[in-house]
Amino acid sequence: MTVLDSVVRSDDVTDHLTSVISAVHRRSPGEAVFHQAVDEVLTALAPVLERHPEYIDARILERLCEPERQVLFRVPWVDDRGDVQVNRGYRVEFNSALGPFKGGLRFHPTVDLGVIRFLGFEQIFKNALTGQAIGAGKGGSDFDPSGRSDGEVMRFCQSFVTELYRHLGEHTDVPAGDIGVGVRELGFMFGQYKRIVNRFEAGVLTGKGVGWSGSHARTEATGYGAVIFLREMLATRGLSLDGRRAVVSGSGNVAIYAIEKAQELGATVVGCSDSSGYVVDDAGIDVALLKEIKEVRRERLSTYVAQRSSARYVTVGSVFDIPCDVVLPSATQNELGADHAATLIRNGVIAVSEGANMPCTAAAVAAFRDAGLLFAPGKAANAGGVATSALEMQQNAARTSWTWHETQDRLDEIMRGIHGHIRDTAATYTSDPDDYVSGAAIGGFTRVADAMLAQGVV
Ligand code: GLU
Repeated sequence: MTVLDSVVRSDDVTDHLTSVISAVHRRSPGEAVFHQAVDEVLTALAPVLERHPEYIDARILERLCEPERQVLFRVPWVDDRGDVQVNRGYRVEFNSALGPFKGGLRFHPTVDLGVIRFLGFEQIFKNALTGQAIGAGKGGSDFDPSGRSDGEVMRFCQSFVTELYRHLGEHTDVPAGDIGVGVRELGFMFGQYKRIVNRFEAGVLTGKGVGWSGSHARTEATGYGAVIFLREMLATRGLSLDGRRAVVSGSGNVAIYAIEKAQELGATVVGCSDSSGYVVDDAGIDVALLKEIKEVRRERLSTYVAQRSSARYVTVGSVFDIPCDVVLPSATQNELGADHAATLIRNGVIAVSEGANMPCTAAAVAAFRDAGLLFAPGKAANAGGVATSALEMQQNAARTSWTWHETQDRLDEIMRGIHGHIRDTAATYTSDPDDYVSGAAIGGFTRVADAMLAQGVV
């Protein structure tokens, strides 16, 4: 009798799921967004567990919900006034069945362990869906880079990496950016890492500058990918983005490049937002101006309207109140609730593609699905970012650099592959190829679960 045979087997999948979910909630109290992410994925797995009891026997779900390793650390640094500041750093190394831990770092005051664990958990399925050899992790800090000088951001990043470096490595754990972490922050972290280990280990971080071993199209990849996924969903109904009115929430990295790609494909993006309000621009967002404000000048979105006569900045209601055909929520988790979903449905929205991680609440997702519109969960729609990070790792390992066109073509191909795989999986397990929520969860899960089965109880 093997170890696996000796595990008690439950015949009742529902009981098994209920018991795993309640154990997760009990063992990680107060981590509401982590619970939400676990609930959504696990409840979608019932059809696959009914056909594959070996996953239950090997306790795959229990192992998936428990990170392989979690690192929590102090990040002390000195601000421009000479005052000592103390932040908290996190790295949750969730799953390495498919490759080194891979996922971004988020610097934002709302970051806590529950947020990082939700993001790391999502990353397991997202990364598996890319078809690339990457495991899953996530990290970050409650540090808020907004309003900080370059010098302060540099000192923070150096302190952060002075602890984290020992856990990283191109074959171990490979961070990248997320909210509050872009090429500036990654540059400071890469520089400090290089100084400590005395090696130019290009593959230890992704999202690097193109001039120092980064990849073309990585900056654009998450937003572009979410639009490519949307294009593919619409195509299944014989529709396209041409002439559509689109709303993209947020105005950070994902939103900017989602707007750019949507407009390239013929849509007019009539709104985007930040945490203080939103822009309505019926002439279509001027992406060059938006980039100048957000990426170069690092200013608030409200300054956009001063240079754009067709636009107004609104501080009442929500960007989701703007009537549109398609919507790409690309700001942050749980930004789009049931009321927003009801408004969008009433206004005739036909498709939703999540550029951010879990931007729609569970109630909003349920409303979209009940209304029969096309809905792409973030773990599928925004996988283009991490997929292109994996392409960056490939280029680094081969000490080469692909052209913009080659990299972008590969991103397009990967997104089409994810879309097709999800539809096939959904058709197989739920008989509904439009069930992207189940297809994404099951499609990602089976790849990781099979690798875990093959690798034994580790
Ligand atoms: N933070 C991004 C995500 O949510 C990218 C991660 C990466 O490139 O490693 O997938």
